[in-house]
Amino acid sequence: MSEITLGILGGGQLGSMLSLAAKKINIKSIIYSDDKDAPAQNFCNEFIYGKYYDKEKIYDFIKKVNVITFEFENIPFEALNEISKLKSVYPKPSINRLIQHRLAEKDFINKLNIRTTRYVSIEKKSDLESLEEFLPGILKTTTMGYDGKGQYPIKNLEEIDKLNIDFSKEYILEKLVKLKKEISVIVTRFSNNKYEIYEPIENTHENQILKKSKIPAEINNKLIEQSKEWSLQISEELKYIGTLCVEFFIDRNDNLYVNEIAPRVHNSGHLTINAFNVSQFENHIRAVCSLEQIPIKKLHNAEMINLIGNQIEDYRRNLKLKDNQFFFDYLKKEIKDKRKMGHLTTLK
Ligand code: ADP
Ligand code: MG
Repeated sequence: MSEITLGILGGGQLGSMLSLAAKKINIKSIIYSDDKDAPAQNFCNEFIYGKYYDKEKIYDFIKKVNVITFEFENIPFEALNEISKLKSVYPKPSINRLIQHRLAEKDFINKLNIRTTRYVSIEKKSDLESLEEFLPGILKTTTMGYDGKGQYPIKNLEEIDKLNIDFSKEYILEKLVKLKKEISVIVTRFSNNKYEIYEPIENTHENQILKKSKIPAEINNKLIEQSKEWSLQISEELKYIGTLCVEFFIDRNDNLYVNEIAPRVHNSGHLTINAFNVSQFENHIRAVCSLEQIPIKKLHNAEMINLIGNQIEDYRRNLKLKDNQFFFDYLKKEIKDKRKMGHLTTLK
C-alpha cells in the first residue's frame, strides 16, 4: 500500500478535522501554521510552526509531504504560489487569489450569470457619496474578512463619520438583502464532471457569525435545484479540485443570491461528519490525494450548533451527551469572545 502524506497549511479547527479525516483513511497529515498555538497540532501527525514566507521552514515541510492543501483562504497568494512551484497544491492557488478578493469574486460570479447582491467598489470615502441606492448596505473590506470581521452595516450616509472607518483599506458596499433564509451547498469536485454534492444546508447567523446549521433545509425544490446547479457551475468553471462551499442568501420573494464562495471545507459542513457516509473533510482528502471517489449517502438528518466564546464551558464540564449527540472541542488555548470554540451535532 502506498503511503501518502498530506500537507495542510493552516492550523485551526478545519485543519484539525481534516487531520482526523485523514487518519481515518490511513493518510498522514503534517500541518504548517504561523500560529504557535494552532489547535490542529493536537490532531495531526506532525506540526511545523513557521511564517508562510519562511523559505527554509516551508522547504522542510514540502520535502515531507506528497501533496498540499490549505484550510483557510487568507494564506498570502505569493507564498502559496511559490509552494505550488515545488509541490502540487489543491485547490490551485489562482482560485484562492480570486476568492480572497470580494470584488474579483463577485465579478467572477456575475460573469457566469449567477445572481449576487448589488455591490460597488469603494476606494475612498468620497466614493460613498451619492450611493443611497445601495443603502441600507454593508461595507466590507475586500480582503481578509471572516466571521463578519471588517464589516460595517450602514443605514444612511450621515452614519458613516461615526463609524471610524479606516479608508486606507479597499471596500465594497453591498446592498442589504432582506433575508428569509441562508443556505450553503458543499461540493467536492474530483475532476471534469466528477463530483459529490451534498444537499443544501440551512444556516442561521448571529452577529454575522454562523450559529446553527441543519439538514434538510426548509426550502422549496426550485431553490434546492438552483443552488446545486449554480454550485456545480462555479466548481466546473474554476476546475476546482477538492471541497468547496457556496453560501447563498434567499430573500423574502424566494430569490436566490450567491453570497460568497469558500475555497475550502466549511463550518456549515461539520454535520457531514456524523450525518453522511463520507464527510466533507474525507471527500476533500480523497479529491486532493486522487483517491477513490465514493458516492455519498445521507444517513441521518442533523443539526449543528457552534459553541462560541464561553458557551464551550458548559459542555466541557458536563459531558452528558445523548446517544445522538457529538461534541467537538477545538482545544483552543484561550476562550475569546466571538471565537468558535467547538460544536455540537445532533442527529435527528
Ligand atoms: P464573512 O466573510 O465574514 O463570512 P459574509 O459576507 O458571509 O462575510 O457575511 C457574514 C454574514 O453577514 C452573512 O452570512 C449574512 O448573515 C450577513 N450579511 C452579509 N452581507 C449581507 C447582505 N448583503 N445582506 C444581508 N445580510 C448580509
Ligand atoms: Mg460568509
